[in-house]
Formats: sequence, C-alpha cells, structure tokens
Amino acid sequence: MVRGLVADIQRASLHDGAGIRTTVFLKGCPLSCMWCHNPECISFEPQELFYPEKCIGCGRCREGCYAGARVLCGKWMTAGEVLSEVMEDTAYYNEDGGVTISGGEPLAQRAFLGEFIRLCREKGLNCAVETSLIYYDEEIFRSLDFVMADLKIWDSGIHKKYTGVGNEKIKEHFILLNKLGIPIIARTPVIPGIDQGIAQISRFLKDLRNVKQYELLPYHPLGNAKKKALGQTVVEFPVPTQEYKKELEKYAYIRG
Ligand code: SF4
Ligand code: SF4
Repeated sequence: MVRGLVADIQRASLHDGAGIRTTVFLKGCPLSCMWCHNPECISFEPQELFYPEKCIGCGRCREGCYAGARVLCGKWMTAGEVLSEVMEDTAYYNEDGGVTISGGEPLAQRAFLGEFIRLCREKGLNCAVETSLIYYDEEIFRSLDFVMADLKIWDSGIHKKYTGVGNEKIKEHFILLNKLGIPIIARTPVIPGIDQGIAQISRFLKDLRNVKQYELLPYHPLGNAKKKALGQTVVEFPVPTQEYKKELEKYAYIRG
C-alpha cells in the first residue's frame, strides 16, 4: 500500500483556496527557494527541528519532548489514514470548503497524491493542489476543482539563482494546464531586492484564460525560525513596505 510522507495537517485553513479548508502538507520539494516559508517540507526524509529556547533540560529526549523543543516533522501515512483525519473537519467546511494538498511539492509524491485525491473525490470533497508546477500530471490536474500555482520569477537565470531550478518547465506547464480548463489561481511571493519581473509574469498570465486570479503574496520571514531549528543557514530578505506593495498591486487581478 502506497504511503505518503506527511509534514502536517492544518485544520480550518482560510488561505489555501476558497472557503474553510483542511490543508495537507506533504514533505519533499525539488526546489530550494531561499525564502521558503516551509523549509521543513523540502527534504524527502523525516527531520527533527530543535528549538533550544524551549528546552528545559529535563534530559528525557528519548521519551519524546513534551516541551516542544524537539519536534519531528514527517510521518508516513496511507491515503486512507490522512482521509480519516480530514473527514473529522468536513462539518466545518462551508459550501466552498474542502481539501488543499500543499507542501513541499505535492506532485513529488505522485502515487500517494493520486490515491488520496481519488479517496477525497469518492467522499465528494472539493480538492485543490498548491504546486510549484515543476511537475505536470494531466490525470491528477483533471481530478481537481482548482489549482494554485506559483510563478515566482520571470527570468529563468534569476529563478535558478534563488530557487535552484530554471523556470522553462514551469512556464510550459502553465500553458498546458491552462488548456485543461481547470481554474488556476496563480501567485508570486513578493521579495524586495529580487528582480522578479512581476509585470512580465502578469502579462504572461493574462493571456491564459483559465488563470482566474493572480495574487501577490508579500514575503514574511516565518520560515526563518524553522530553518534555524533545522540547523540551516538563514538568508534574510526585507519585508515588503506598504509603498512597494502598492506599486505592485496593479499587476494582481481577478478575472471577472
Ligand atoms: S526532552 Fe525536550 S525539553 Fe527535555 S531535554 Fe530533551 S529537548 Fe530539552
Ligand atoms: S517551491 Fe515552495 S516548498 Fe518548495 S522550496 Fe519553494 S517555497 Fe519551499
């Protein structure tokens, strides 16, 4: 039976698509964005995060840490086990609510993802995926209600510098996905100091009629504490100012 490596299951999520949703975070991502807000989801292995400021020195690490200083991220679960957890939330979904599978890159665990979506569909749940679009799987995309996809930087060389991969495939996958007719919510994290080419991204997306919305997500240094807890080097970026956000907001849109 296929198992997926699950980083977290977040309940009552309001920012991962329409309505009240349950977000399932899968571990593993082939990108390594320097600003990643979920750095614990990049590795394809379970990992321990250590927060020394929470350690009370009880010396009982082997029994499990009740102080929250050592946190294990990554649990192998079957699609049925994840579905059981999700089903506990369905009473709280409003009419738009449902399940969003995020990460990491959820399509990196394709067999598990396909099986989990199939089970969710059997229960009549609204399903979405949050993806970098580095992978493309027509069968999976066709089985979704909508897709949230990022185009982080326009120039492929700059994209590679900050995420570890070029973006040719991502652009190509946007064009293919658009042809399927599945509603797409496109997003760009706004990182001051990087020439992201947001105007060019916006123009490219406007030509894709199934991109129903283009969102700009202001960078937030939420991932830094987790990076430190993983023993990784933190790269600091400035938080976008109100002026910077205002300057860019003309490029975001909702298609009427
Ligand atoms: S169990 Fe937790 S609080 Fe106790 S020593 Fe280990 S890390 Fe510190
Ligand atoms: S694509 Fe998402 S999960 Fe992967 S490294 Fe970038 S921000 Fe993190």
